[in-house]
Amino acid sequence: QARRLDGIPTTIFSTMSALAVRTGSVNLGQGFPDVDGPPGVVEAAVGALRAGQNQYAPGIGTPDLRAAIAAHQRRHYGLDLDPDREVVVTTGATEGIAAALLGLVDPGDEVVVLEPYYDSYVAMIAFAGGVRRPVTLRAPGFRLDPDELRAAVTDRTRLLLVNTPHNPTGTVLGRAELQAIADLAVARDLVVVTDEVYEHLVFDDHEHVPLATLPGMAERTLTLSSAGKMFSFTGWKIGWATGPAGLVGALLGAKQWLSFSSGTPFQAAVAHALEHEAGFYDELTASLQKRRDLLCAGLAELDVDVRVPEGTYFATTDVRRLGWEDGMAFCLALPERAGVVAIPAQAFYDDLDEGRHLVRWAFCKEPDVIEEGLRRLQAAD
Ligand code: PMP
Ligand code: GLN
Repeated sequence: QARRLDGIPTTIFSTMSALAVRTGSVNLGQGFPDVDGPPGVVEAAVGALRAGQNQYAPGIGTPDLRAAIAAHQRRHYGLDLDPDREVVVTTGATEGIAAALLGLVDPGDEVVVLEPYYDSYVAMIAFAGGVRRPVTLRAPGFRLDPDELRAAVTDRTRLLLVNTPHNPTGTVLGRAELQAIADLAVARDLVVVTDEVYEHLVFDDHEHVPLATLPGMAERTLTLSSAGKMFSFTGWKIGWATGPAGLVGALLGAKQWLSFSSGTPFQAAVAHALEHEAGFYDELTASLQKRRDLLCAGLAELDVDVRVPEGTYFATTDVRRLGWEDGMAFCLALPERAGVVAIPAQAFYDDLDEGRHLVRWAFCKEPDVIEEGLRRLQAAD
């Protein structure tokens, strides 16, 4: 294999989901819902398939979907985008991340990234020849320290790669944290790529504020999102990027050589979803919040040290109180011990002192699945 793959492991999600299948475990690892999104959206996909929308879409995305994405950004956030120049459809946010980094980062450029980080960021920074500069959201609160952020920026910094709501910690960056990012980006004239795939999955009275809405940020921010998380169709792999034409153009310049274009009938269905199913993500968030509470209360009862997340699909725990120092060892033993799969968060850290003992649990599962997982954990103790 090529040297660019040296040091790049198999993604933890493949490893742990394969382990779940092999051991018949309850999969509280990989973040995908076990109930599909709205039936009307499935019908829209079927309709598009039957109507012959089965050939290549334009690389930038279908006009209908780009218009629907621009309308979504205007409706929710007051952002005005030209759908022909400032919106691009991607094959999941995963391709958005890849194309953004390949399109914007030169070899040797530094990329400041929040740690723990989504694992594809590391692989894609490396593929682009960039150097990652992690800024740790420290336990137990997993907040962003503006001083640490400022200290990570050097003359070689090309961009800040942000993620809010944040996987795996469930932190939703607040206005002060976002303002610190914006102040730094403006002062140092940096580009910001912000992964906001969980934008609607925010609990209690927390609020998702897109970085692009802060003063001075619209012109330097590339925002990524995805229908996978918004509408519970993770297998469709339809995502998008929005931002100024120059940044969107750089992303598209790379994307055209990756997938060229994204699945045509799914684009039609996601355009329909954005236009007609906005109620879905509010209901999803309400039900996810209950499932968050179910999982977190259950884990707390088992004396797991759990931090209740503000958003996303995930709760992060410290397993030391259970007598485990190493979350990887804990997660590799758990299928045999208990018939449950979770994700060792150390896969998302450079600094193992911070991440070694952390384990991520997904609650985007049906309540009976979460309850079964908790029963199994209890029986194992
Ligand atoms: N970013 C984050 C933070 C994620 O958790 C995920 C997983 N959904 C992705 C990007 C990838 O999104 P997609 O499935 O649309 O490729
Ligand atoms: N985003 C999901 C997670 O964090 C799954 C992504 C993947 O499997 N690549 O679990």
